[in-house]
Amino acid sequence: MNKNIILINGLILTPHTVLHDKVLYIREGKIEKIAAQEDYLQHPETSDFYNVIDVQRMYISPGFIDIHTHGANGIDAAFGPYDQMAGYLARHGTTAFLPTFWNMDLESLINGCRLISRWMREQKADHGAQVVGINSEGPFINPDRGAQSEEHAIIPTAENVGRILSAAEGNLKIMTVSSEISGYENMVRTLRKHDVHVALGYCRASPPRLERALNLGISHIDHIFDCFADPVPYEGGVKAWGIEEELLVCDELYAEVIADKNGIHVPPVLLTILLRCKGAEKIILISDSRDAAGSPPGRYTMKDGLKIVLREGEDVVRLENGSLAGSLMSMNDAIRNFMRHTGISLPAAVTAATYNPAKFLALEHHKGSIRAGLDADLAVFDEDINVHMTIIDGKTVYQRKSFTA
Ligand SMILES: [Zn+2]
Repeated sequence: MNKNIILINGLILTPHTVLHDKVLYIREGKIEKIAAQEDYLQHPETSDFYNVIDVQRMYISPGFIDIHTHGANGIDAAFGPYDQMAGYLARHGTTAFLPTFWNMDLESLINGCRLISRWMREQKADHGAQVVGINSEGPFINPDRGAQSEEHAIIPTAENVGRILSAAEGNLKIMTVSSEISGYENMVRTLRKHDVHVALGYCRASPPRLERALNLGISHIDHIFDCFADPVPYEGGVKAWGIEEELLVCDELYAEVIADKNGIHVPPVLLTILLRCKGAEKIILISDSRDAAGSPPGRYTMKDGLKIVLREGEDVVRLENGSLAGSLMSMNDAIRNFMRHTGISLPAAVTAATYNPAKFLALEHHKGSIRAGLDADLAVFDEDINVHMTIIDGKTVYQRKSFTA
């Protein structure tokens, strides 16, 4: 039986600060309390009721929540098996995720919704990171943008939107749409009625279209600075502005961002502008990982037939023509990269990978921070954000280094 746990000697991360000299109690899958280490040391736990683990001055963080991952460890998020993907993600500190569809044909997408919904009924903490819903990047997107497949982009109708919603059994949490697709407004209304967050992406939306989108209930930006309109040229010596500038100053919208190691998806200066415009509280770090995550450099053919290239020294996925098609990152990498590129503090960067996605998904009363009563989903990592232990639902699902009391 998995015992209750006390973590001692940890640095506990909260959204604004790091708590020193505290002890974290985990009981029956929940965070029980945070107590002063001094009190604990005066009356150490000697019963069999708790397993005491000394985390040796490492950070204790809420488990990472990845709302945008297409796969990892050779597994495509549309097909599973999900235990192999969930185990890999947990080894990198992710405790909850949304399997995310790449643009694919409608029947495969509907089948993927069914597979994931079934897995959500069967999954257990021992499997690793928990699936908390479905994200679908397409199929109602503009095929001109990014590396998404043109043949699978389709026009939304009441019938095909209805079929996706019904196969997803209420688990569809996010759908990325392009605002120039015909039938888009009715689709957004239908999705919002079913509590699906609608994200703008792969689009050329003009500023007036953005205002209209906000009125319709768009709440999110699919990986900002990737796959939006072409850069706006200077006109007569004056800097013009477009959809991305509008998104930056639109406080209502959460912005997902891919912070890869070399700033290939988003250069450091744009990450910094994003941070200054949005503030840390409206940014959600994502991995945008593909099934190749965990593979060495080389050429591969993905399950969907896409031919990709992984270059030495990069953590991004490229098509053979060099264009980008996702990443090889885990969420701990995203946190490390975001800090290096922008100088953001560790607590704030962690918040963008934990509390912010939890709040966006309305899970903040269960996950995303460390306080009494919340799910005991935790990642323990060193100062270089290498994950050494992951706890999900109060169970130790991964331990890299042996911690002893
Ligand atoms: Zn993606």
